[in-house]
Amino acid sequence: MTLPADKQWHAMSTAAVLEELHAGPAGLGIEEAARRQARCGPNRMPAPARPGRLMVFLRQFNNALIYVLIACAAITALLQHWIDSAVIVAVVLVNAVIGFAQEGKTEKAMDAIRRMLAPVATVLRGGERMSVPGDALVAGDIVLVEAGDKVPADLRLLTAHGVSVQEAVLTGESATVDKQCGPVAAGAALGERSCMLFSGTIVATGQGHGVVVATGTATQIGHIGGMLGAVEQPATPLVEQMSVLSRWLTALILLVASLLLLYGYVVGGQAFGEIFMVVVGLSVAAIPEGLPAVMTITLALGVQSMARRNAIVRRLPAIEAIGSVSVICTDKTGTLTRNEMVVATVVTDRHVLTVDGDGYAPAGVLRLDTAQVDAAEYAVLDELAMAAALCNDAELACRDDAWTVEGDPMEGALLAFAGKLGVEGRAARRAWRRTDAIAFDARHRFMATLQHDHAQHASVYVKGAPERILGMCRAQRAAGGASEALDRAYWEGRAEAIAGCGQRVLAFAALAVADDKTVLAHADVEGALTMLGMVGMIDPPRPEAVAAIAQCHLAGIAVKMITGDHAKTAAAIGRQVGLVHHSAVLTGADLDRMDDAALRGAVLACDIFARTSPEHKLRLVMALQAQGMSVAMTGDGVNDAPALKRADAGIAMGRKGSEAAKEAAQLVLADDNFASIVAAVREGRTVYDNIKKVISWTLPTNAGEAATIVVALLFGMTLPVTPIQILWVNLITASTLGVALAFEPTEENTMRRPPRRRSESLIGAALAWHIVLVALLFLAGVFSIFSYALARGYPIELARTMALNTLVVMEIFHLFFIRNIYGTSLTWKALRGTRAVWITIAIVTVAQFGITYLAPMQALFGTRAIGVADGVLIVGVGIALFAIVEIEKQIRLRL
Ligand code: ADP
Ligand code: MG
Repeated sequence: MTLPADKQWHAMSTAAVLEELHAGPAGLGIEEAARRQARCGPNRMPAPARPGRLMVFLRQFNNALIYVLIACAAITALLQHWIDSAVIVAVVLVNAVIGFAQEGKTEKAMDAIRRMLAPVATVLRGGERMSVPGDALVAGDIVLVEAGDKVPADLRLLTAHGVSVQEAVLTGESATVDKQCGPVAAGAALGERSCMLFSGTIVATGQGHGVVVATGTATQIGHIGGMLGAVEQPATPLVEQMSVLSRWLTALILLVASLLLLYGYVVGGQAFGEIFMVVVGLSVAAIPEGLPAVMTITLALGVQSMARRNAIVRRLPAIEAIGSVSVICTDKTGTLTRNEMVVATVVTDRHVLTVDGDGYAPAGVLRLDTAQVDAAEYAVLDELAMAAALCNDAELACRDDAWTVEGDPMEGALLAFAGKLGVEGRAARRAWRRTDAIAFDARHRFMATLQHDHAQHASVYVKGAPERILGMCRAQRAAGGASEALDRAYWEGRAEAIAGCGQRVLAFAALAVADDKTVLAHADVEGALTMLGMVGMIDPPRPEAVAAIAQCHLAGIAVKMITGDHAKTAAAIGRQVGLVHHSAVLTGADLDRMDDAALRGAVLACDIFARTSPEHKLRLVMALQAQGMSVAMTGDGVNDAPALKRADAGIAMGRKGSEAAKEAAQLVLADDNFASIVAAVREGRTVYDNIKKVISWTLPTNAGEAATIVVALLFGMTLPVTPIQILWVNLITASTLGVALAFEPTEENTMRRPPRRRSESLIGAALAWHIVLVALLFLAGVFSIFSYALARGYPIELARTMALNTLVVMEIFHLFFIRNIYGTSLTWKALRGTRAVWITIAIVTVAQFGITYLAPMQALFGTRAIGVADGVLIVGVGIALFAIVEIEKQIRLRL
């Protein structure tokens, strides 16, 4: 069906809109939806044009380090040192190819992540509520939206309960606009079409449903050029720090090189061409040209391994941030617990009953002290069941004997509970149609619905946190159905008792209203309710959360539970999952009484925060940060967004989380599981370690190579390695051995170390010392082999070949040392290494044998074949280097 693009949907009545779209309030049939999709295509924006592969390849050369190399190649060519310039060009090309391949890899990883983050929409199809991928929507679909949702297509609202929307993406207006379902003037501007929801905007409050009038590029956002991709990809602070560093390094190296050039030419009186080649060799040796590419590869690998552990990185800096967190603030429901609820206890005005049955099957019996209870004996149970079924947005579905929930699991449990009392949710909702509602909001902690039956009788049911509901009640329902005075102390005592067992407590109340009432306001329900009863729900802790929390404590990471639930429930669950360090629980009310300074003082000593609202999360993040902590914070609702943005690592729930929370977060958990956060911390630490390893290997190695040349030049010695040989070493080692470190697995003790400080600089005193030490050792190794060879009367070419091989062998042994910066390198496991390490070592070894023993290469590089005994000696130098740095590390670790 093609829709006229200029249709004035906002000016039409809902009936006219539905008629025009050949749709009904029960939604399209499944086949009809498929037919429409086949005709109009998916509800998707065209993918932004990507730069061509050639562009991506050329971009690899756009880098200060590479410019220097290209200039060197050009000048050597002018000096007609053809081989040298060919080798430099080869170095540049190898780096570009690696950079190109890595960019493709990152791109692929990000694409996969984009797919994992694809939004879903809740629709009615064939009268049934179901979740479908957002791009499966077609015009005529009935879509349900609630606070936190990103509107999946352009909708004409059919119902709206307290709906307000953030339309900044479309109108630039940051204030939210209220929505309703009556038509507006045909000429209304976009921002004034209050009966329309536009694709890409975010629902801030309320709930409602609407009919899809436009999809994909036909939507308003489609007209103005479409939405940007969900995943941003800026450089991480580490990579930025590194690129600044490498710019400075380049400048420094060029300066030193030109001074040497002058010195050699003027003081040493050497031929310009010769000294120039030495200086070029020096520059190429010292410039860490492969570093940026290898760091990006490391990050890309990190993104992938986190995705495998169900942590989806939305913004690259999250990898670093999550690796450095020192406190994780987590939700309880669904993160530490399974979010598979079942009603286990029912409280009426004088009885406490237990409920049998598990899962969401609406079958099971009620017992009072083991005697079975017939619901019909208790009028109040009937009413409670009606309240549970009607003040409820979820739906149960039974497929192959398994009952599943569409919607909030807690509400699913309530539907199952109503079923056990003989009230079938769908039938109840057919008999009583919802007229208005106050949606649940974590701030006011209750939900209310107004419904009418066919005879136009009205009823209002409210459910919510017990203290909240009690505060709104004036009376209570007696078992027989009569009204009596509210016994507040009784209900409070019962609620505490149930919560103390770790159950989630929910209270139900009713309100008598006139039949002609059609609008429900907050004022209607305050203070006039009649308490019906309470239920207690079991939500078992996730077994893996217990282990994950223990792991956090070992890793020096504090874990804090921040929940909207009752303090007693929170404390009981906290005990079950091992959050027992501090037994005190602070509630939202306690937090409100504290000013920021008092909160800063109290925040470290408390692990459980209960009855909090989303605003408290932001205050807690700031208080923890003021204490120097690096904070990971989870969230799911639209109101959690500010806290997620403010946290060092904002983490949104992939399943129960709203789109608003996901957009604010850096990380999205595909399985909502606390254990996945800890897995992500582990991966984050590994990535940081590996980047550090790459740097710790590259810089000292480069320094060692450079030092060899500088020393020879300054002291007027014969060069132990010729410029072209230095270029060769860079060609085969710089990009290969370094890359191997990107693949390093997590070190044994990664989660037994305290978190790294955020301010810790990449190149600290330890690394600086390591650079000096290794450079000196390289110098010693190369010169001793070289002078040994000369002393034995070997020709200079052979002595140089031996020095060259010593250099490479030392680099390989240095690599093995770097692989385990925190532990001993001499364990079997540590020595075995990864496949990547062995592959690169094989490549380098083959190349070294080639340059040493193949006649054509000997001719090119001026090398000679080395005897077996001398070969063994060279490996011995590598072993000596390894032994020295390893012993030095062991001493340092023990200090
Ligand atoms: P949590 O941190 O456990 O996710 P929430 O903020 O979601 O807590 O909920 C806080 C309290 O609000 C719950 O303990 C419950 O009493 C009440 N509540 C939660 N969901 C609903 C709902 N859909 N309707 C009414 N009350 C609710
Ligand atoms: Mg919740």
